[in-house]
Amino acid sequence: MSRALNVTAMLACAVAGAWAMASWQGIELEDLKHLGTPRNSVIEGDAERTIPLPDGPSERHSAVIVPQGKGSFSFLFDDPDAGPVRYDPCRPLGWVLSPEGMPPGAEPLLHSAADAVAAATGIELVYEGTTTEPADFERELFQERYGDRFAPVVVGWSTEGETPDLAGAVTGVGGSSAVNGAYGSQRYLHAGVIVLDSEDIVRLMSVPGGDDLAQAIVMHEWGHVVGLAHVNDTAELMNASNSKLTTWGGGDLEGLAIAGAGPCEDV
Ligand SMILES: [Zn+2]
Repeated sequence: MSRALNVTAMLACAVAGAWAMASWQGIELEDLKHLGTPRNSVIEGDAERTIPLPDGPSERHSAVIVPQGKGSFSFLFDDPDAGPVRYDPCRPLGWVLSPEGMPPGAEPLLHSAADAVAAATGIELVYEGTTTEPADFERELFQERYGDRFAPVVVGWSTEGETPDLAGAVTGVGGSSAVNGAYGSQRYLHAGVIVLDSEDIVRLMSVPGGDDLAQAIVMHEWGHVVGLAHVNDTAELMNASNSKLTTWGGGDLEGLAIAGAGPCEDV
């Protein structure tokens, strides 16, 4: 299952006075290169947040992945002109674990699933440790605990009692927010969330071969985080339900390679 938050970035130039005041204090070298172009910001709650400039050079850390398969895939946010909305592949994608409610023995599955996503997308996934933030789709894009940047992907646990999205056969939900870059209209994914149903995962892990199926569920949710939508083909992990596949299908691999080949945000 997927959940995606479509955040619309606001242009700071709509409030010219506020922009001039705010930018004088916080002007950065990169802003001078974009002189005359308004810096984008988002409204979150009551606060207006300037979209941070990405860290480091706009260069890929690894080659674009050549997918070892073909098949069906689809993207959650697919702009007919700009293409699918994806993570910036030139910057490491951090993820944190919210361990509250995690079934015993489940943590290795999360790391293996992240490795499988990094290998298929070519995006550098960096595990940043645990967090006390609960995994929830109502999370804020910017949080003091993570510093002056977009919140990393959070992977955590819940139950269908606490999270109605997990009702019935749903074992996990995943998605990211689509947000404008610091300048211009190109959108990027940020602040992904994966919420896993701890009761369902415990049940799965108690049967022979269940660990691999549980890991496949986490991989499916990561597929949503990096932008993939469901497909009808039951040979793909991105099919809405799965009771037998333990690894990516051909279309998954094709879609994940594209998910990792998006535009780098220029600074
Ligand atoms: Zn799904």
